[in-house]
Amino acid sequence: MPGNVLRIRMGDIDVAIGVDADCVAGWLGSYGGEDSPADLSRGLSAGNEGIPRMLELFETEDVTTSWYVPGHTIETFRDEIEAVADAGHELGIHGYSHENPTDLTREQEDAIMEASIDLIKDITGERPAGHRASWWEFSENTPELVEKHDFLYDSSLMEREFEPGYMRKGDRWEKIDYERDPDTWMEPYRYGEETDVVEIPISWYRDDIPPMMFIKHPHYNMGYASPRMIHEELYKAQFDFLYNRRGAGVYTLTIHPDVHGKPHMIPLLEEFIQYVKGHENAEFKTLEAIARKYEDDPSVYESDGEYV
Ligand SMILES: [Zn+2]
Repeated sequence: MPGNVLRIRMGDIDVAIGVDADCVAGWLGSYGGEDSPADLSRGLSAGNEGIPRMLELFETEDVTTSWYVPGHTIETFRDEIEAVADAGHELGIHGYSHENPTDLTREQEDAIMEASIDLIKDITGERPAGHRASWWEFSENTPELVEKHDFLYDSSLMEREFEPGYMRKGDRWEKIDYERDPDTWMEPYRYGEETDVVEIPISWYRDDIPPMMFIKHPHYNMGYASPRMIHEELYKAQFDFLYNRRGAGVYTLTIHPDVHGKPHMIPLLEEFIQYVKGHENAEFKTLEAIARKYEDDPSVYESDGEYV
């Protein structure tokens, strides 16, 4: 622990591994590979090889995780996703073809949500508790549709780092319009109305795609950041801040079979899981369990230290 950080007491540190199983759908909807059989083959590898590798590690380490699975992944890799459910992991929705919600009409987004819920019900026999927007984009209709479909929680936004809250609908902001008098757009951000849906924050700094996946289109992404650097300087550093300076909160890690299902990533993921296990009061939980715990007592994840 850093020398001058004193901790008064230790609260609950709940660590949730979220696996966004983008696979072929990721290439169709977000990574610009929809016309490239070679890129799509990388999605096939993620589904056919990445998913089983990660499942094997979670079983060995006895960790239960939360999977956000596009409908396309469920229908393409049915056996693999059934194996995920059979191993006791949580399944939540994540679009169909990883389409960008901000490009959809309300009707399209609604229909995709409905179909995605049904696909998961077909595997687990139950409605999914969690929604995670594909590409972590919210359309203007997303909050209202998530509420309408009665999700317990959403996990797509980044308003806080380590503490859940309640998802709002109807937030408003003014975009700059250089053609108009600034008085028409000089307005602060306006918070909307709180819903009953728990919002569990995620972070691009605890996500493996931006630094570690090579993407050709629509924007070239090199994807060769050092995996050990990412684990040490982002994942563990963020965990250490939460543990040592806040003493309570939720840590969500977002990984993909497309990246963490690769041979060079499995040992690092294993190391991270063991690192967390080495900390008293830190426990692995699903996001559903975290949402229910927060609903029961929101104060449980408030900082016990001086840092938010
Ligand atoms: Zn995704």
